[in-house]
Amino acid sequence: MKKWFAVIGDPIAQSKSPEMHNAWYEEENVDATYIPMHVKPEHIQQAVASLKLLGASGWNVTIPHKQTIIPFLDELDGLAAKMGAVNTVVHTAEGKLKGYNTDGPGFVKSLEEAIGTKKRNEAVLIIGAGGAARGIAFSLQMEGYTNITIANRTIEKAQQITDEMNAGRAMSLQQAEQSLSAFQIFIQTTPAGMATGDFALPFSLEKFPAGAIAADIVYNPLMTPFLQAAEQKGAAIVNGLGMFVHQGAIAYEHWLGNYPNTNAMIARLTAQLGGK
Ligand code: NAP
Repeated sequence: MKKWFAVIGDPIAQSKSPEMHNAWYEEENVDATYIPMHVKPEHIQQAVASLKLLGASGWNVTIPHKQTIIPFLDELDGLAAKMGAVNTVVHTAEGKLKGYNTDGPGFVKSLEEAIGTKKRNEAVLIIGAGGAARGIAFSLQMEGYTNITIANRTIEKAQQITDEMNAGRAMSLQQAEQSLSAFQIFIQTTPAGMATGDFALPFSLEKFPAGAIAADIVYNPLMTPFLQAAEQKGAAIVNGLGMFVHQGAIAYEHWLGNYPNTNAMIARLTAQLGGK
Protein backbone atom coordinates (compact mmCIF):
# COMPACT_ATOMS: atom_id res chain seq x y z
CA MET A 1 0.00 0.00 0.00
CA LYS A 2 1.15 3.55 -0.68
CA LYS A 3 2.80 5.07 2.39
CA TRP A 4 2.16 8.65 3.38
CA PHE A 5 4.05 11.19 5.45
CA ALA A 6 3.38 14.79 6.50
CA VAL A 7 4.78 17.92 8.09
CA ILE A 8 2.66 19.71 10.68
CA GLY A 9 3.17 23.35 11.66
CA ASP A 10 1.61 26.82 11.93
CA PRO A 11 2.34 28.42 9.48
CA ILE A 12 3.25 25.66 7.03
CA ALA A 13 2.93 27.03 3.47
CA GLN A 14 6.61 28.13 3.40
CA SER A 15 7.95 24.64 4.17
CA LYS A 16 10.27 23.09 1.59
CA SER A 17 9.97 19.66 3.21
CA PRO A 18 7.13 18.37 0.97
CA GLU A 19 9.07 19.22 -2.18
CA MET A 20 12.24 17.64 -0.80
CA HIS A 21 10.70 14.39 0.42
CA ASN A 22 8.48 13.91 -2.66
CA ALA A 23 11.53 14.40 -4.90
CA TRP A 24 13.42 11.76 -2.90
CA TYR A 25 10.50 9.27 -3.21
CA GLU A 26 10.57 9.76 -6.96
CA GLU A 27 14.35 9.37 -7.18
CA GLU A 28 14.37 6.27 -4.96
CA ASN A 29 11.23 4.70 -6.51
CA VAL A 30 9.41 4.72 -3.17
CA ASP A 31 5.62 4.45 -3.42
CA ALA A 32 4.86 7.27 -0.98
CA THR A 33 3.66 10.83 -0.71
CA TYR A 34 4.41 13.67 1.74
CA ILE A 35 1.92 16.45 2.48
CA PRO A 36 1.95 19.75 4.39
CA MET A 37 -0.71 20.09 7.12
CA HIS A 38 -1.64 23.34 8.80
CA VAL A 39 -2.22 22.50 12.46
CA LYS A 40 -3.03 25.26 14.95
CA PRO A 41 -1.57 25.02 18.47
CA GLU A 42 -4.94 24.19 20.05
CA HIS A 43 -5.43 21.22 17.72
CA ILE A 44 -2.16 19.37 18.26
CA GLN A 45 -3.69 16.50 20.28
CA GLN A 46 -6.47 15.86 17.71
CA ALA A 47 -3.96 16.15 14.86
CA VAL A 48 -1.70 13.48 16.35
CA ALA A 49 -4.67 11.17 16.98
CA SER A 50 -5.91 11.71 13.40
CA LEU A 51 -2.50 11.11 11.78
CA LYS A 52 -2.23 7.88 13.76
CA LEU A 53 -5.78 6.74 13.00
CA LEU A 54 -5.46 7.50 9.30
CA GLY A 55 -2.22 5.53 9.07
CA ALA A 56 0.52 8.08 8.40
CA SER A 57 3.84 6.22 8.49
CA GLY A 58 5.53 9.22 10.08
CA TRP A 59 5.66 12.99 10.09
CA ASN A 60 7.84 16.02 10.69
CA VAL A 61 6.96 18.57 13.31
CA THR A 62 7.78 22.24 13.01
CA ILE A 63 7.11 25.50 14.86
CA PRO A 64 5.16 25.76 17.19
CA HIS A 65 4.62 22.06 17.99
CA LYS A 66 8.11 20.70 18.66
CA GLN A 67 7.63 20.68 22.45
CA THR A 68 3.86 20.46 22.79
CA ILE A 69 3.59 17.22 20.80
CA ILE A 70 5.64 15.28 23.37
CA PRO A 71 2.79 14.28 25.78
CA PHE A 72 0.96 12.63 22.84
CA LEU A 73 3.84 10.33 21.83
CA ASP A 74 4.56 6.85 23.28
CA GLU A 75 8.33 7.02 23.34
CA LEU A 76 11.26 9.41 22.78
CA ASP A 77 14.72 8.72 21.44
CA GLY A 78 17.59 9.77 23.79
CA LEU A 79 18.49 13.05 22.08
CA ALA A 80 14.84 14.16 21.73
CA ALA A 81 14.30 13.41 25.44
CA LYS A 82 17.42 15.38 26.39
CA MET A 83 16.35 18.31 24.21
CA GLY A 84 12.66 18.24 25.13
CA ALA A 85 11.83 18.78 21.43
CA VAL A 86 10.75 16.52 18.58
CA ASN A 87 10.91 17.23 14.83
CA THR A 88 10.32 13.69 13.52
CA VAL A 89 7.74 11.05 14.50
CA VAL A 90 7.92 7.42 13.45
CA HIS A 91 4.66 5.41 13.50
CA THR A 92 6.12 1.97 14.22
CA ALA A 93 4.91 -1.40 12.93
CA GLU A 94 3.65 -2.06 16.50
CA GLY A 95 1.45 1.04 16.27
CA LYS A 96 3.57 3.16 18.63
CA LEU A 97 4.58 6.80 18.04
CA LYS A 98 8.30 7.43 18.63
CA GLY A 99 9.75 10.95 18.60
CA TYR A 100 13.22 11.92 17.37
CA ASN A 101 15.10 15.17 16.89
CA THR A 102 17.15 15.32 13.71
CA ASP A 103 17.89 19.10 13.65
CA GLY A 104 21.13 19.02 15.69
CA PRO A 105 22.50 15.84 14.05
CA GLY A 106 21.61 17.36 10.65
CA PHE A 107 23.64 20.45 11.48
CA VAL A 108 26.68 18.42 12.60
CA LYS A 109 26.56 16.33 9.40
CA SER A 110 26.43 19.48 7.30
CA LEU A 111 29.27 21.14 9.26
CA GLU A 112 31.51 18.08 9.04
CA GLU A 113 30.78 17.62 5.35
CA ALA A 114 32.30 21.09 4.94
CA ILE A 115 35.16 21.01 7.48
CA GLY A 116 35.84 17.30 8.16
CA THR A 117 35.93 15.58 11.54
CA LYS A 118 39.39 16.64 12.64
CA LYS A 119 38.37 19.91 14.26
CA ARG A 120 36.52 18.51 17.24
CA ASN A 121 38.99 20.02 19.75
CA GLU A 122 38.70 23.52 18.32
CA ALA A 123 36.89 26.24 20.26
CA VAL A 124 33.26 26.57 19.13
CA LEU A 125 31.08 29.64 19.74
CA ILE A 126 27.33 29.11 19.34
CA ILE A 127 25.47 32.42 19.02
CA GLY A 128 21.91 32.11 20.31
CA ALA A 129 20.39 29.70 22.83
CA GLY A 130 16.99 28.84 21.38
CA GLY A 131 15.65 25.44 20.33
CA ALA A 132 18.00 25.02 17.38
CA ALA A 133 21.08 26.06 19.38
CA ARG A 134 20.13 23.58 22.06
CA GLY A 135 19.99 20.66 19.59
CA ILE A 136 23.24 21.74 17.98
CA ALA A 137 25.05 22.02 21.33
CA PHE A 138 23.94 18.56 22.49
CA SER A 139 24.74 17.00 19.09
CA LEU A 140 28.22 18.58 18.97
CA GLN A 141 28.85 17.25 22.47
CA MET A 142 27.64 13.76 21.46
CA GLU A 143 30.03 13.82 18.48
CA GLY A 144 32.97 14.62 20.76
CA TYR A 145 33.38 18.42 20.48
CA THR A 146 35.17 19.33 23.69
CA ASN A 147 35.21 23.11 23.77
CA ILE A 148 31.76 24.71 23.39
CA THR A 149 30.69 28.22 24.43
CA ILE A 150 27.15 29.57 24.04
CA ALA A 151 26.53 33.33 23.84
CA ASN A 152 23.00 34.69 24.07
CA ARG A 153 21.11 37.94 24.54
CA THR A 154 19.44 36.29 27.56
CA ILE A 155 22.49 34.74 29.20
CA GLU A 156 20.39 32.59 31.58
CA LYS A 157 19.18 30.51 28.61
CA ALA A 158 22.74 29.83 27.50
CA GLN A 159 23.66 28.97 31.09
CA GLN A 160 20.76 26.52 31.31
CA ILE A 161 22.03 24.60 28.27
CA THR A 162 25.63 24.42 29.51
CA ASP A 163 24.37 23.31 32.94
CA GLU A 164 22.36 20.51 31.31
CA MET A 165 25.37 19.57 29.17
CA ASN A 166 27.54 19.62 32.27
CA ALA A 167 30.16 21.18 30.01
CA GLY A 168 30.94 24.36 28.14
CA ARG A 169 30.61 28.02 29.06
CA ALA A 170 27.85 30.61 28.77
CA MET A 171 28.40 34.29 28.05
CA SER A 172 26.60 37.43 26.97
CA LEU A 173 26.74 38.68 23.36
CA GLN A 174 28.90 41.61 24.57
CA GLN A 175 31.41 39.23 26.20
CA ALA A 176 31.50 37.12 23.03
CA GLU A 177 32.08 40.21 20.89
CA GLN A 178 35.15 41.06 22.99
CA SER A 179 36.62 37.54 22.85
CA LEU A 180 35.92 36.51 19.25
CA SER A 181 39.61 35.80 18.60
CA ALA A 182 39.52 32.93 21.12
CA PHE A 183 37.27 30.83 18.83
CA GLN A 184 37.82 28.91 15.58
CA ILE A 185 34.29 27.74 14.74
CA PHE A 186 31.29 30.13 14.85
CA ILE A 187 27.67 28.95 14.61
CA GLN A 188 25.02 31.68 14.18
CA THR A 189 21.60 30.33 15.31
CA THR A 190 19.47 33.47 15.85
CA PRO A 191 16.92 34.49 13.19
CA ALA A 192 19.13 37.53 12.37
CA GLY A 193 19.36 37.94 8.63
CA MET A 194 16.29 35.92 7.69
CA ALA A 195 14.60 37.26 4.56
CA THR A 196 11.59 38.17 6.72
CA GLY A 197 13.67 39.31 9.72
CA ASP A 198 13.61 42.83 11.01
CA PHE A 199 16.82 42.97 12.99
CA ALA A 200 20.45 43.05 12.02
CA LEU A 201 23.31 40.91 13.28
CA PRO A 202 23.17 40.98 17.08
CA PHE A 203 26.89 41.72 17.54
CA SER A 204 29.94 43.16 15.76
CA LEU A 205 32.50 40.99 13.96
CA GLU A 206 35.26 43.53 14.29
CA LYS A 207 37.49 41.12 16.24
CA PHE A 208 36.72 38.10 14.05
CA PRO A 209 39.87 35.93 13.73
CA ALA A 210 41.53 35.05 10.41
CA GLY A 211 41.13 31.50 9.10
CA ALA A 212 37.96 30.76 11.10
CA ILE A 213 34.90 28.71 10.07
CA ALA A 214 31.53 30.49 10.10
CA ALA A 215 28.22 28.62 9.89
CA ASP A 216 24.73 30.13 9.84
CA ILE A 217 21.61 28.00 10.22
CA VAL A 218 19.37 30.52 8.46
CA TYR A 219 19.14 29.50 4.78
CA ASN A 220 16.81 32.07 3.27
CA PRO A 221 18.72 34.04 2.14
CA LEU A 222 21.63 31.61 1.66
CA MET A 223 24.14 34.43 2.17
CA THR A 224 23.18 36.01 5.50
CA PRO A 225 24.71 39.24 6.86
CA PHE A 226 26.73 37.09 9.30
CA LEU A 227 28.21 34.94 6.50
CA GLN A 228 28.92 38.01 4.38
CA ALA A 229 30.76 39.74 7.23
CA ALA A 230 32.69 36.56 8.13
CA GLU A 231 33.68 35.92 4.52
CA GLN A 232 35.02 39.46 4.30
CA LYS A 233 37.22 38.58 7.28
CA GLY A 234 38.54 35.54 5.37
CA ALA A 235 36.40 32.82 7.00
CA ALA A 236 35.32 29.58 5.32
CA ILE A 237 31.52 29.72 5.35
CA VAL A 238 28.78 27.09 5.73
CA ASN A 239 25.19 28.11 4.96
CA GLY A 240 22.05 26.69 6.62
CA LEU A 241 20.75 24.65 3.70
CA GLY A 242 22.94 21.62 4.49
CA MET A 243 21.39 21.43 7.95
CA PHE A 244 17.88 21.56 6.49
CA VAL A 245 18.56 18.83 3.92
CA HIS A 246 20.39 16.55 6.37
CA GLN A 247 17.69 16.86 9.07
CA GLY A 248 15.24 15.71 6.39
CA ALA A 249 17.53 12.92 5.23
CA ILE A 250 17.94 11.57 8.78
CA ALA A 251 14.13 11.61 9.17
CA TYR A 252 13.84 9.79 5.79
CA GLU A 253 16.27 7.16 7.06
CA HIS A 254 14.23 6.64 10.26
CA TRP A 255 11.13 6.07 8.13
CA LEU A 256 12.45 4.16 5.14
CA GLY A 257 15.79 2.66 6.20
CA ASN A 258 18.27 4.29 3.80
CA TYR A 259 19.96 7.69 3.42
CA PRO A 260 18.77 9.62 0.34
CA ASN A 261 20.97 11.67 -2.01
CA THR A 262 21.66 14.90 -0.13
CA ASN A 263 24.18 16.43 -2.59
CA ALA A 264 21.72 16.60 -5.47
CA MET A 265 19.04 18.01 -3.13
CA ILE A 266 21.36 20.71 -1.78
CA ALA A 267 22.24 21.69 -5.39
CA ARG A 268 18.55 21.78 -6.39
CA LEU A 269 17.47 23.95 -3.44
CA THR A 270 20.56 26.18 -3.74
CA ALA A 271 19.58 26.96 -7.32
CA GLN A 272 16.00 27.73 -6.23
CA LEU A 273 17.25 30.11 -3.55
CA GLY A 274 19.40 31.92 -6.08
CA GLY A 275 22.77 30.55 -4.89
CA LYS A 276 25.64 28.88 -6.75
P1 NAP B 1 14.13 30.25 18.99
O1 NAP B 1 14.00 29.04 19.85
O2 NAP B 1 13.04 31.25 18.97
O3 NAP B 1 15.50 31.01 19.44
C1 NAP B 1 15.87 32.24 18.88
C2 NAP B 1 17.24 32.69 19.43
O4 NAP B 1 17.58 33.93 18.77
C3 NAP B 1 17.26 32.97 20.92
O5 NAP B 1 18.54 32.66 21.43
C4 NAP B 1 17.01 34.49 20.98
O6 NAP B 1 17.58 35.13 22.12
C5 NAP B 1 17.79 34.95 19.75
N1 NAP B 1 17.27 36.22 19.25
C6 NAP B 1 16.05 36.46 18.72
N2 NAP B 1 15.92 37.77 18.40
C7 NAP B 1 17.11 38.37 18.75
C8 NAP B 1 17.60 39.71 18.68
N3 NAP B 1 16.85 40.72 18.19
N4 NAP B 1 18.85 39.96 19.12
C9 NAP B 1 19.60 38.97 19.65
N5 NAP B 1 19.20 37.67 19.75
C10 NAP B 1 17.95 37.39 19.30
O7 NAP B 1 14.38 29.86 17.47
P2 NAP B 1 15.02 28.49 16.88
O8 NAP B 1 13.96 27.46 16.75
O9 NAP B 1 16.24 28.18 17.66
O10 NAP B 1 15.38 28.97 15.38
C11 NAP B 1 16.35 29.96 15.17
C12 NAP B 1 16.59 30.16 13.67
O11 NAP B 1 17.12 28.98 13.11
C13 NAP B 1 15.31 30.47 12.86
O12 NAP B 1 15.64 31.49 11.95
C14 NAP B 1 15.01 29.17 12.15
O13 NAP B 1 14.37 29.41 10.92
C15 NAP B 1 16.41 28.63 11.93
N6 NAP B 1 16.43 27.15 11.82
C16 NAP B 1 17.03 26.60 10.71
C17 NAP B 1 17.06 25.22 10.59
C18 NAP B 1 17.70 24.59 9.37
O14 NAP B 1 17.36 23.44 9.07
N7 NAP B 1 18.62 25.24 8.71
C19 NAP B 1 16.49 24.38 11.58
C20 NAP B 1 15.91 24.99 12.71
C21 NAP B 1 15.89 26.39 12.83
P3 NAP B 1 16.77 35.20 23.52
O15 NAP B 1 16.94 33.86 24.17
O16 NAP B 1 17.47 36.28 24.26
O17 NAP B 1 15.34 35.53 23.19
